[in-house]
Amino acid sequence: MRVTTAFKHLLRLPGVNVTGVVFQSNRVIVTVALRRRRLACPLCDHSTRARYDLRDVDSRWRHLDLGAWRLEVRARLRRLRCPDHGVRVECVPFARHRSEFTRDFEDLVAWLAAKTDKSAIERLLRIAWRTVGAIVERVVSDELDPERLNDLFEIGIDEISWRKQHNYLTLVSNHRSGKVVWGAEGKDTKTCDSFFDELGKERSSKLTAVSMDMGKAYLKSVTKQDHAPQATICIDPFHVVALATKALDDVRRDVWNDMRALDSKAAKKFKDARWSLMKNPDNLTDKQAATLRRLKRRGGDLWRAYRLKESCRAIFSGDLDPDEVEELLDRLISQAQRSRLEPFVKLSRTLRDNRDGILAAIRLGINNGRAEGLNNVVRLIARRAYGFHSATAAVALVMLCCGPITLRLPYQGLL
Ligand SMILES: [Zn+2]
Repeated sequence: MRVTTAFKHLLRLPGVNVTGVVFQSNRVIVTVALRRRRLACPLCDHSTRARYDLRDVDSRWRHLDLGAWRLEVRARLRRLRCPDHGVRVECVPFARHRSEFTRDFEDLVAWLAAKTDKSAIERLLRIAWRTVGAIVERVVSDELDPERLNDLFEIGIDEISWRKQHNYLTLVSNHRSGKVVWGAEGKDTKTCDSFFDELGKERSSKLTAVSMDMGKAYLKSVTKQDHAPQATICIDPFHVVALATKALDDVRRDVWNDMRALDSKAAKKFKDARWSLMKNPDNLTDKQAATLRRLKRRGGDLWRAYRLKESCRAIFSGDLDPDEVEELLDRLISQAQRSRLEPFVKLSRTLRDNRDGILAAIRLGINNGRAEGLNNVVRLIARRAYGFHSATAAVALVMLCCGPITLRLPYQGLL
């Protein structure tokens, strides 16, 4: 068997013949030639026999490694004039437009990016994390289910922070499928408007319920005339619990600051009480549980705040029926209001203002556990996307992991 034939079988690149193979010190270079005569536009279906000029464009792509060897594919491409896209270099069937990698290599990167962490991918594939971001963007725009915005009825709109404090992404998820179906940079009314622009009037009119946090930005967009004024507004219960937890943390900080002023030694001991208070009591370590018992004996403002947070969590644990939730929520609102703890007095006002939305979520049975689970996963993914060059790449990583997408490995379909 000739070496070019052997490499043609090894590489399995569609639509090409291998014309040369050269081994260099650190890589194998495989030269290929397109089998088809016609020139195809990389952006549309247009193809032609006519070359735009006689200039060849030297192109190269990285393909899957061959053992320890890096493998580089090279080809000379022609240029065409597309009536819609102007003068372009012809597309190749084995790589995505403007990519320096073959489709097989990119599919492997995307599959790994959905499964494993940054440093593993960087070392295993010998590529930079920013490059992973660009690849994920291309794979997602290629493979994402084009029907993902059809048949949406119950959706959740959520903000998550990306990078330091002031970068945010808005994500829309389909409550029925538990998948993220849309995302963009920003967290204001305008960001949400752009979702409805893409969804269009007809599909927006089919929405029956939209869940969100207690901010006003998304609410303002959802209730606009051409958006989804007919949908029931729901407040995801996990946002309520998060707010109660935040109020507890504020009380804890106040208590700690007062204590520090009086007795710095006692305050130091108290500093690691934070997790004992914040975590679900079922998940405490032995040491944290002991700290919690100490806080209970101590009593005072902090223990009262803890009790309020815990009753809030119990209300939304998913075990109660809507009438019980309503009764207990009203009781919590009045207890918090009378608590003389400023953060909880404020919380009680917020809960009263959002009472209808909170109860609507319970009545409609929007699956809070699933929504919260998705929210937690998305937060971790956004953290992994910190090193990416753009918000679009960060959204793409979220879609890759939590969106309606089917990822293929290069050897899928073989054997
Ligand atoms: Zn074109």
